[in-house]
Amino acid sequence: MTGAIETVRTVRGLRARVAAWRADGEAVALVPTMGAIHDGHLSLVRLAKAQSGRVVTSLFVNPLQFGPREDFHAYPRDETRDAQVLATAGSDLLYAPDESEMYPPGFSTKVHVGDLTEDLCGASRPNHFDGVATVVAKLLLQCAPDTAIFGEKDYQQLLVIKRFVRDLDIQVEILGAPIVREADGLALSSRNAYLSPEERAIAPVLHQTIRQVATDLAQGRGADDASEAARFKLEAMGLRVDYVAVRDPDTLKALHGPVKAARVLAAVHLGKTRLIDNVPVPPDS
Ligand code: AMP
Repeated sequence: MTGAIETVRTVRGLRARVAAWRADGEAVALVPTMGAIHDGHLSLVRLAKAQSGRVVTSLFVNPLQFGPREDFHAYPRDETRDAQVLATAGSDLLYAPDESEMYPPGFSTKVHVGDLTEDLCGASRPNHFDGVATVVAKLLLQCAPDTAIFGEKDYQQLLVIKRFVRDLDIQVEILGAPIVREADGLALSSRNAYLSPEERAIAPVLHQTIRQVATDLAQGRGADDASEAARFKLEAMGLRVDYVAVRDPDTLKALHGPVKAARVLAAVHLGKTRLIDNVPVPPDS
């Protein structure tokens, strides 16, 4: 197919490609994704390309990180289109293993990161972060990149990955990349495709509201007060609030009263769609 990217489906194929690049003295960056590629993913690929000679993008819809009532089967999949847009953004290789390559019969190991995974998304999605940590650990060991890039869109996930990489002495540099948003502020996500036109029109209120929290905090409003006001506003707009939280940006510990540096994180349900977002305090200008 013209314009598409070279694709490998086995650990062996991936390692052979990476070894050839290394023999030529090239650095390698990995961008893990679940596909349904959008501009948020492509921004990671571009950052990876700027960091390293070669970029591997992985595409694997990881069953381990979905709960039994979540959208694993409905998750959007279009590998042909993904391969084309990834090539255009500068990715050199697509690693798209099937489930039996990633989890062969008898697979029974998991990576569990304590502490950071216990609340926020971890509270409402039990086992989610074990699934993420397990697959990302495998991807890092399969590819052995110099750098791996993850979006701040999934802020808790980024901290979880940094933690297990440090705890397990995995030799890779983890980089976080800024959130790419639609013009109206909605963070790009593969799950935005689930939104009806009416829901899509309401969805930007999530970013507007947490940005307001960040502004209020920067002006001295207390953390509990500001997050309660945000919850009230989101509920008034018809969203079901999972959490709105003001946390330490490195440890995710809860903050109360006036704060200096923090992260405001939120998760909501809009119809059947779960949306997450986060912003820094002080807010970006
Ligand atoms: P996913 O395919 O949803 O698992 O996401 C793959 C990677 O892309 C993760 O590191 C995400 O944090 C990142 N990502 C997803 N959406 C965005 C976005 N809007 N901006 C920046 N990075 C993103």
